[in-house]
Amino acid sequence: MKFFVINKKEILFIIFIIFLFILLAILFLISGKVLNVSTDSIEPNIEKIKNIYDSNEKIAYLTFDDGPTKKVTPKILDILKQNNINATFFVIGKRVDENPEIIKRAYNEGNFIANHTYSHNNNKIYINKETFLTEIQKTDESISNAIGIDNYHSGVFRFPNGSTAKDHYLQKQNSIKYLEEINYGYLDWNALNNDSMQKLSKKQLLENLKNTSKGKDVLVILMHDSGDVNNTYDVLQDSINYLKSQGYIFKTLYDVLYDCKI
Ligand SMILES: [Zn+2]
Repeated sequence: MKFFVINKKEILFIIFIIFLFILLAILFLISGKVLNVSTDSIEPNIEKIKNIYDSNEKIAYLTFDDGPTKKVTPKILDILKQNNINATFFVIGKRVDENPEIIKRAYNEGNFIANHTYSHNNNKIYINKETFLTEIQKTDESISNAIGIDNYHSGVFRFPNGSTAKDHYLQKQNSIKYLEEINYGYLDWNALNNDSMQKLSKKQLLENLKNTSKGKDVLVILMHDSGDVNNTYDVLQDSINYLKSQGYIFKTLYDVLYDCKI
């Protein structure tokens, strides 16, 4: 009977192969970490927000303001998940502090978390440059704490009531410059269902969406997950079905600002 005898050279060769394998595994893990881009290493290209409406494709950006709330946001997340689509949430910092687990879920499920001030109180926000920037930075900190990512910087801000509303108009125009100083762009909307105005029926909400989106290739749709008067979650599935029937695909601001998840 013949036995395989391993000589010293072969043992060294086997050890070398095992060592090489471990080295490759370590390199793979390190590169994975490096490729798992954090906000520290990638800055959003805010110029791209200005061109969001330039597209040959029919794109719908679903945006939800004023959350997160326990009453509404989880219902919206459920519907988005069932449809395998993502949205952008313009969050209020103090509500993120109250409901961090909801924002963590929204983020983990691929939704974009953007900045909508800490207090949502126009009388506090625009006192001076410092109060304005503090509102944004505090909100980013709240998001960072909630999702467990250091120095979260979405790069996208939405003015409460929009940038063109008469209330605090001049202060808002000045604030646009302050935003640029911290590499932040801002985004309003070009379609809405008026869900924050008053309690509207499902039919009325859907009609408002249809009327305001008519003839537009790119839609930035304003909705709310604030849980007061709105009942957008009741009509969200119908809204998604309508937009699909019109040939829209759904995107988030990740697709505008980044090539990857932040
Ligand atoms: Zn708002």
